[in-house]
Amino acid sequence: MGLTGIQIYKLLPKTNCGECGVPTCLAFAMNLAAGKAELDSCPYVSEEAREQLAEASAPPIRPLTVGYGDTAVKIGGETVLFRHEKTFYNPCGFAGVIRDTDEDIAEKAKRWAGYQWERVGLNLRPELVFLKCESGDATTFEKAARTVVDNSDLSLILACEAPEVLAPVAKALADKHPLLYAATNANADKMCAIAGETGCPLAVRGVDLEEVMELTNELTEAGLKDLVIDSGARDLPGVFQDQVAIRRAALLEQNRALGFPTICFANSLGETLAEQTAAAAMLVPKYAGLIVLDDLQPESIFPLLVERLNIYTDPQRPMTVTPGIYEINNPDEKSPVCVTSNFSLTYFIVTGEIEASRVPTWLLIMDTEGLSVLTAWAAGKFVGDAIGIFMKKCGIIEKVSHKKVIIPGYAASIAGDLEEELVDWEVLIGPREAAALPAYLKEWKA
Ligand code: SF4
Repeated sequence: MGLTGIQIYKLLPKTNCGECGVPTCLAFAMNLAAGKAELDSCPYVSEEAREQLAEASAPPIRPLTVGYGDTAVKIGGETVLFRHEKTFYNPCGFAGVIRDTDEDIAEKAKRWAGYQWERVGLNLRPELVFLKCESGDATTFEKAARTVVDNSDLSLILACEAPEVLAPVAKALADKHPLLYAATNANADKMCAIAGETGCPLAVRGVDLEEVMELTNELTEAGLKDLVIDSGARDLPGVFQDQVAIRRAALLEQNRALGFPTICFANSLGETLAEQTAAAAMLVPKYAGLIVLDDLQPESIFPLLVERLNIYTDPQRPMTVTPGIYEINNPDEKSPVCVTSNFSLTYFIVTGEIEASRVPTWLLIMDTEGLSVLTAWAAGKFVGDAIGIFMKKCGIIEKVSHKKVIIPGYAASIAGDLEEELVDWEVLIGPREAAALPAYLKEWKA
């Protein structure tokens, strides 16, 4: 059990210097107790106090990484029950099941690794293979793992509860940092030794949360830190209740035995992929660290990736792009100049349409604090005088030989103010919807 804020406060220097980012040691102590601050933020804690505070300053849900390279997934590290309280930090990872006896391992791995989509400048993709040892043979299991690694960049969950089979494979693939699945009451000692020797994270499965806590206590006492919890539930209400109970115990009761990210099996919650996808959709906001599906298919995984993107976007910070001049299709001095807001969705939609038009264009992205055109206009951030000042400062005037600027149709009412700010410039009203931009730009004459 962690220390209370007051207990932590007694161990701090009490100088209220503010260097930790909050004005007082008491405020820092409260944040530390709530898992919202890190001990290293205070440079004046004595070594003695640091030792005593080590447990209290650990995040309530341990952050850890599974996998390697581009598909490494950082999970855990969350500090709130509900996204609107602050934000969720580390998006869950998605895994598809492959058995080491399957004949199409290479084909599946290649296909799943190819499921990648770009959205608002981010690459959305599944990251993991849940590789099940059905052969009971270390050579076959390792060959299957190598086939996944050689044919894709997907990371691995090595699922084998026979320590003598898992040990050589885990050692051979330790540099890929796979998750070892799973330590149970029957094999915990030996699985602990494998995880200790390889440095790989270890999943823990109990028949219920009581057994999970006994196992995590046993394993942490043995020196393991990177654990992932499988509560053992395999029905929808049970999984839901366990997920909520684990998160609440870790955050509200500072229960260290449950302060680990979780792995959930959507594939046990539905017979069809559609049912599994619906279950996975529930698990994304309900705290799953890793979600396992029987298969990865575009119609299932794409909506889940979009849901994950939305759930793990900071609700207090709109997604933005850097303000400035963007050159699309190699513009020159006679090319049209468009201006819009720096809400990333607006930017990517407008950019896509301009690229598709093949018309060389200067796109000016103005800082509207991530608000879309209409919202920014209503908030007074996308108005004539502000755009005029931005255009004078950004350097576009030196880049073009004409004096015309195209504004979004939704902001037509600012044209007069902008013309007052940009004397000699002609303000053209563009289309309301980005989809109409290609046709509009093709009519452009400098
Ligand atoms: S930096 Fe340390 S001493 Fe200074 S206010 Fe924060 S907790 Fe107190």
